[in-house]
Amino acid sequence: MLDLLPAHLYLVGELPLGEFEQWVYVTPELEGEWGELLYFELLSLDYRQKGAGHDVCKLLKSVVGGPDIELWRLRRYLSAIVEQGPRRCTALATMYDEYCGGYYFLDNLALAYGVRAWECQQGSLPEDTCHACAEVGAVDEARRALEWLNEGDIVLVGQADELDRVRFEDRRPAPEKLPRT
Ligand SMILES: [Zn+2]
Repeated sequence: MLDLLPAHLYLVGELPLGEFEQWVYVTPELEGEWGELLYFELLSLDYRQKGAGHDVCKLLKSVVGGPDIELWRLRRYLSAIVEQGPRRCTALATMYDEYCGGYYFLDNLALAYGVRAWECQQGSLPEDTCHACAEVGAVDEARRALEWLNEGDIVLVGQADELDRVRFEDRRPAPEKLPRT
């Protein structure tokens, strides 16, 4: 089976756009995997153009946006926060984006901590003022969210609803759903 890891890594920001572009050029099997039309779009895209990264994400999400990938992606980000890895700041900011995109079970993490990391990433606060990603509370909330995903309390559906919000099934016990901040 064709290894699609580069596409997944690109989607989580761990593969630079230039390397993704090279992978597209040297992997003609993608045409069979994703269809002629999409592969042609990826081949003909101007990767140096502003907004190219966004276009690639949109194209990719139409083919690699299933629940397994969503789960893999969220776990990767949450683990980066729990493990306090070098990408924790980006991961926390992304969790705020994900909350806004419809993953409302990330509310405690996103609203109490993620939004501050997000502001740092946007440049409206200096990046070295982002302490949110190192706070014990953020680590706790990320760990909690990971547990929900691992234990099936939150089940990702992997499709957007009619308002383009991602969907999930919430099987958490009622006390777990309460806002804590
Ligand atoms: Zn940070």
